[in-house]
Amino acid sequence: MNNEANNAFCLIRPPGHHATPTRGMGFCLFNNVAVAAKYLQRKYHLDNIVIIDWDVHHGNGTQDTFYEDPSVLYFSLHRYPFYPGTGSKNETGAGKGVGSTINIPLAYDTTPKKYISIYEAILENDVKEFRPDFILISSGFDSYCLDPIGGLGLGISEYRVLTEITQKIANECCEGRIVSCLEGGYHLSDLPRCIEEHLNGLIN
Ligand SMILES: [Zn+2]
Repeated sequence: MNNEANNAFCLIRPPGHHATPTRGMGFCLFNNVAVAAKYLQRKYHLDNIVIIDWDVHHGNGTQDTFYEDPSVLYFSLHRYPFYPGTGSKNETGAGKGVGSTINIPLAYDTTPKKYISIYEAILENDVKEFRPDFILISSGFDSYCLDPIGGLGLGISEYRVLTEITQKIANECCEGRIVSCLEGGYHLSDLPRCIEEHLNGLIN
């Protein structure tokens, strides 16, 4: 917000997206992206914040936090049915927040090509129309095909593609402002390679 950096990646653990406003859950204690979004609202009075979640699990805690808040668009692609059980397509928000939650449940055998095309379509349409002032990413790498806990068919290079699609929208809408936070990712030898692809995209 002070133009000290174009974007940032937060190499943090534990992850956060399962933590609700009142309790920790999954491996998560505090919901890092939700705290960041609340901070942006309070300190900078941003009207439109987008949270993108490509972790293989649904970010139930993030969804809970902003379910009735029309100023935060939460968009998640996740394996379904899977832990934590939430994230069906008809969970779209409540009250004033109806329409500001987008859930894309995906079958285990979803191909990278299909995943990327859905991702790009939502970003080019729903996210762009929302006119984000800031984009936060719940960047989970357990959607990587060999992840021992998750797995959704994504290859290492796909994380760069996702990053570049996101960056294009961020450049068009909010001067490239992206803060990405590490969520899951449990393939210890390939996790750094997935993250490196993500960073290569952010640096560009
Ligand atoms: Zn996960």
